[in-house]
Amino acid sequence: MAVKAARAAFNNPAWRDLSSTARGDLMFKLSALAEQHSHLLATVETWDNGKAFSSAQGDVDEVVGTLKYYAGFADKIHGQTIETSPAKFAYTLREPVGVCGQIIPWNYPLAMAAWKLGPALACGNTVVLKAAESTPLSILVFANLIKEAGFPPGVINIINGHGREAGAALIQHPDVDKVAFTGSTATGREIMKMASQTLKTITLETGGKSPLLVFADADLDNAVYWAHKGIMANQGQICTATSRILVHDSLFDAFLDRFVAYIPTVSRLGDPFVPGTTQGPQVSQAQYDRVLAYVQIGKQEGARLVCGGEPFMSSGYFIQPTVFTEVTEEMRIYREEVFGPFVVLVRFTSDEEALRLANGTEYGLGAALFTSHLSKAHRMARAIQSGMVWINSSNDSDYRVPFGGVKQSGIGRELGEAGLAAYSNIKAVHVNLRV
Ligand code: NAD
Repeated sequence: MAVKAARAAFNNPAWRDLSSTARGDLMFKLSALAEQHSHLLATVETWDNGKAFSSAQGDVDEVVGTLKYYAGFADKIHGQTIETSPAKFAYTLREPVGVCGQIIPWNYPLAMAAWKLGPALACGNTVVLKAAESTPLSILVFANLIKEAGFPPGVINIINGHGREAGAALIQHPDVDKVAFTGSTATGREIMKMASQTLKTITLETGGKSPLLVFADADLDNAVYWAHKGIMANQGQICTATSRILVHDSLFDAFLDRFVAYIPTVSRLGDPFVPGTTQGPQVSQAQYDRVLAYVQIGKQEGARLVCGGEPFMSSGYFIQPTVFTEVTEEMRIYREEVFGPFVVLVRFTSDEEALRLANGTEYGLGAALFTSHLSKAHRMARAIQSGMVWINSSNDSDYRVPFGGVKQSGIGRELGEAGLAAYSNIKAVHVNLRV
């Protein structure tokens, strides 16, 4: 029903023939409504997900900014004219792809919805968006704002449901033209297979095991600050989390001491609605069990648990920030995405070894590097296999800047001007001037 509604809306002159500026105006209105209702949206997001209320407020700010950014693009999506010969020339049209099936995860429900809706709507598509089963609510509240903004019926359809049922039905639907997904690499593979039946275009944002490299000439306090943020923010439930910290041998002990001492001063676990809380519970029993299972795996593999590894408080899915050292490249805790406040530290002795370790993963989402050597920073940024690099920082994300991965971390880019590419087709029109 949702796909049918989206198809009807795609063909409806009220949307199809709407001027691009008017389309942008609807998006500006949606952005303004999100801003107006930011307290409500952040409250429901915290209830749904367990993240600190201050983080949820940051997420809503991102929704407002992303929609505004792409609203501005709606009437700036142009084709080209291409001179060929005196007899002929060609021009291109950028057309919407059609009905877009979008599947979002539970770690940033509202922000991920905005990342997907923004470019899709700016290009004139219609959408069926499925929320994650563990966070079904905030997106439903947001759906009311879509209606209030005045989008023609059927342009944006929000559905809830389980991945294997509702998600799979959406991906396999023959009348869906394009699929965008954020979630695990395993599910991304399934989606790719299902989408192949009707050759749908796909964009995937999947998992990661992003490295954070601390070179011998790094500013240690700055590295500690960002290393903490890069893995402990959002309960460690971030696809770009810098979950492998690689430190030069000469600094390793000093870094470890400062990092472990820093954790209790900034990781404040508890009720996510209490001001000052930085870490709430994991999103679900499944994720809580998964993170604690990796603690056992780490111990069994012979790594050293330096701190954490235990639940925090007797009720709720709280997990103490967890740090492992004496980790080797073969260990599962070094190779696999844990998706929790869980980090491994490894030593390196040369730039070559640092690079080999950084790139020795099936993933390639983000990478952070800390050095005061200007040209080394840029050399490394080129050599690291990832979609994003942070120099002397970690996990910066901005709707004006392309976001995405290489290797098994994804296909395509979201955000920035690059994010529009996935939501329009280029049609070439050849013109004969000799008639
Ligand atoms: P998931 O990938 O299974 O779920 C993400 C979304 O995909 C949800 O909306 C879900 O309903 C949907 N989905 C699941 N199976 C589907 C299918 N067969 N067809 C269509 N849609 C389907 O992730 P999860 O099981 O909730 O979490 C498991 C792991 O995934 C986490 O531990 C973490 O490692 C990773 N994860 C990554 C991200 C990210 O941003 N990269 C986000 C969430 C989870």
